[in-house]
Amino acid sequence: MNNKYKISQKLLERAKKVTPVASQTYSKSYRYYCEGTSPSFIDRGDGCFVWDVDNNKFIDFVCALGPIIVGYNNEQINKAVIKQLKKGISFSQPTKQTIELAEKLAEIIPAAEMVRFVKNGSDATSSAIKLARAYTGRDIIAVSGYHGMDDWYIISTDNNKGIPQELSKFTKSFKYNNLDSIRSLFNKYPNEIAGVILEPIQGNGPHPGYLKQLKEIVHSEGSLLIFDEVVSGFRYALGGASELYNVTPDLVTLGKAMGNGLPISAVAGKKEIIKLIESENVFVSTTFGGEALSIVGALETIKILEQEGTYEKMNKLGNMLKEKLENLVEKFDLKEVVKIIGISPHIGVTFEGKGSLNYLDFQSVFQETMISNHILTVGMTNISLAHSKKDINQYLEAAREGFIKIKEAINNDSLKGILKGGKVNPVFKRNIT
Ligand code: PMP
Repeated sequence: MNNKYKISQKLLERAKKVTPVASQTYSKSYRYYCEGTSPSFIDRGDGCFVWDVDNNKFIDFVCALGPIIVGYNNEQINKAVIKQLKKGISFSQPTKQTIELAEKLAEIIPAAEMVRFVKNGSDATSSAIKLARAYTGRDIIAVSGYHGMDDWYIISTDNNKGIPQELSKFTKSFKYNNLDSIRSLFNKYPNEIAGVILEPIQGNGPHPGYLKQLKEIVHSEGSLLIFDEVVSGFRYALGGASELYNVTPDLVTLGKAMGNGLPISAVAGKKEIIKLIESENVFVSTTFGGEALSIVGALETIKILEQEGTYEKMNKLGNMLKEKLENLVEKFDLKEVVKIIGISPHIGVTFEGKGSLNYLDFQSVFQETMISNHILTVGMTNISLAHSKKDINQYLEAAREGFIKIKEAINNDSLKGILKGGKVNPVFKRNIT
């Protein structure tokens, strides 16, 4: 047993007995880290740092899978949340701040004329789907990206046990950045597609004009365009991808970074569509929808993000990271195996298999090396306002060491003596190459 992670290991043994994958979120579980050489439980965070239960300190580039955008333990947000906490968390009627937050979103999110607050990204995407179906009177949904845990989407993935198979006829996947792919779905299912939902930024982002042309096609077919901005919202720009690419969808879903870690999400869009929640029995209602701590936390998060230069700062750091990572990959002649993807500030290091080693072998070696250098990462990297140039440089130093080890593994065609802990074992797997 690795002494550094003694308490994590003990807790892991306990957790495995009482909760699936020892975590409430697949991608936060021990399976996404090299077991034995990584922490499994976090104690606290401050700025861009987290400390695990063994008191090891890391620069966190996971950012809780996207929610942390301002940084942990932010004083301004804490102050607002604590003030609200002393007044109460959940009430029998809405608070005034829910109106303020809805008004703020209407001001900053291009599609948002009206807003409904929910809790998770999945609540928001599922609400958007119901709205699109009710508005168009059609049933099929075209999807591109990840859209949460609910049946209508998960039926189209490999993790689809527990869902009636018949539902699969209502969810059809299309390829991102490929207009022919969506065209052929419309040809195959004329007048049947209610909505086209996609993550507007995938991989290296949309080809020039892609989102605009997609919108034209979707509208010409009488369908609705839904941007799933659960990841991209607040991350690339205050108004998300819609602002960045100047394309306004009919509906937009928000979550993750909106509350800097507080559990809040929203479905927003054209008034005549969102209004169906009120007039046409499109049922979107949750007990904790307007929970007061998250509402004030989100208001404060947006206040901070609205300050001059915030996105410039994060984008600059992300661009620096991407450029220097690409230089390292070039220098170590690893282009075949290591792919740097994403657009600032959401950059990823991904892998392809080579010889008898698959992408998870290389990912494991990289991640283990990063963690041994106090960099917490799962591949995709989020940069928050709390990160600095120094943190990026530390990431790059660790990545250099990771690439050297990958090189060694390629040369040996083996992980023997290189990987010390267990291999990462994600729930969503690519086809192993
Ligand atoms: N949409 C996208 C694009 C996401 O990345 C996620 C979560 N990773 C969701 C929806 C679902 O959000 P949640 O996990 O909060 O339900």
